[in-house]
Amino acid sequence: MQTLKPAAIPPQSDSVQSTPFDTDSFNQVVMSTYARFPLALEKGAGCRVWDTQGREYLDFVAGIATCTLGHAHPVLIEAVTKQIQKLHHVSNLYYIPEQGELAKWIVEHSCSDRVFFCNSGAEANEAAIKLARKYAHTVLQIDKPIILTAHASFHGRTLATVTATGQPKYQKYFDPLVPGFHYVPYNDIAAIEAAISELDEGDYRVAAILIEPLQGEGGVRPGDVAYFQKLRKICDEIGILLIFDEVQVGMGRSGKLWGYEHLGVEPDIFTSAKALGGGIPIGAMMSKSFCDVFQPGEHASTFGGNPFACGVALSVCQTLERENILQNVQDRGEQLRDGLRAIAAKYPHIITEVRGWGLINGMELQASIQLTAADIVKAAMDEGLLLVPAGPKVIRFVPPLIVTEKEVETALQTLEKAIATVTA
Ligand SMILES: *Cc1c(COP(=O)(O)O)cnc(C)c1O
Repeated sequence: MQTLKPAAIPPQSDSVQSTPFDTDSFNQVVMSTYARFPLALEKGAGCRVWDTQGREYLDFVAGIATCTLGHAHPVLIEAVTKQIQKLHHVSNLYYIPEQGELAKWIVEHSCSDRVFFCNSGAEANEAAIKLARKYAHTVLQIDKPIILTAHASFHGRTLATVTATGQPKYQKYFDPLVPGFHYVPYNDIAAIEAAISELDEGDYRVAAILIEPLQGEGGVRPGDVAYFQKLRKICDEIGILLIFDEVQVGMGRSGKLWGYEHLGVEPDIFTSAKALGGGIPIGAMMSKSFCDVFQPGEHASTFGGNPFACGVALSVCQTLERENILQNVQDRGEQLRDGLRAIAAKYPHIITEVRGWGLINGMELQASIQLTAADIVKAAMDEGLLLVPAGPKVIRFVPPLIVTEKEVETALQTLEKAIATVTA
């Protein structure tokens, strides 16, 4: 039985605008790094958000797999309020009790022994890359360590993580990239074996594999169980590190707390960010004690693990557990996939596949037709449903983890209407 608390009804806004949001003024002063939809959001409650003109949307984006408890959840409001009144930021010059408590929760609820806190997914992956490199130099005696990553992966936008990201479109113009990365096709064990033997030359050797248990941005592609078990075996045999990027799939989104639980293997190092704070910026890198080789001064973050972010994230973690939200993720995920498959069956010439775990799901469109995921996302937005593409041909569904049966039903009906409109 779900005991999910209803989100507070938002107060009637006195700022509802009669004219559309002035995107031109915005674009004059904000760098154009994003191709934004012409929509300005102002408030939210539960799985619903409202734009500046008071129009309501069902939010199946959740800040891109981030707002696990939805918007304006009473737990978030209380945690944020309490922590800001107590202490919000000091420095890692001192012990921070909330940081220790959050780390303890993560360690007790995962295969990890230690945690490093930062502020985003890219930073968590940077920390993992640095830890793997130090482990390579000091334990594996590799002079030029190579980290293998997958084609169509996504690991972030900093220079090292965009290099790790196996998608040339994100790297264009930013070369020279960071050395020490090599790419292999996802879910292809022969390619990994070949790369490891080919790269064992001179000072260069493979030191780690960095991979998503389910590729999110690259098209919502779940990892193959046999592939991941073989990866684990290879890493154990030659002593290299297996690193999982759980930034999008972790913290309950998959219906289990961590994506690796679907694959029956444990990583040596893994990262989390998006869902960890329920929308408050926080990132974390977890490791087993054997590969925790950092010494004081070797890695740091000014904001990382501050009382505010850790206090709020701890409340989010405890709420996931206390309210048995993972059960809701599994149930609503099944309902959503069943509904998406029913729609796919009606449009076989347009939709090729529905796939995912828990509440991270993708619907893939035929490669041979002109219609893109963005076309359907736009049509759904016009009908009052927010969705996000994962690549040109996949529509991604990542609602808050507290989404209700009724909301999933509404989303499915709205999506079907949108598909009918764009294909008419
Ligand atoms: C979003 C994402 C990142 C990057 O996270 P940021 O917080 O944007 O830096 C890294 N890895 C995966 C798998 C992601 O989905």
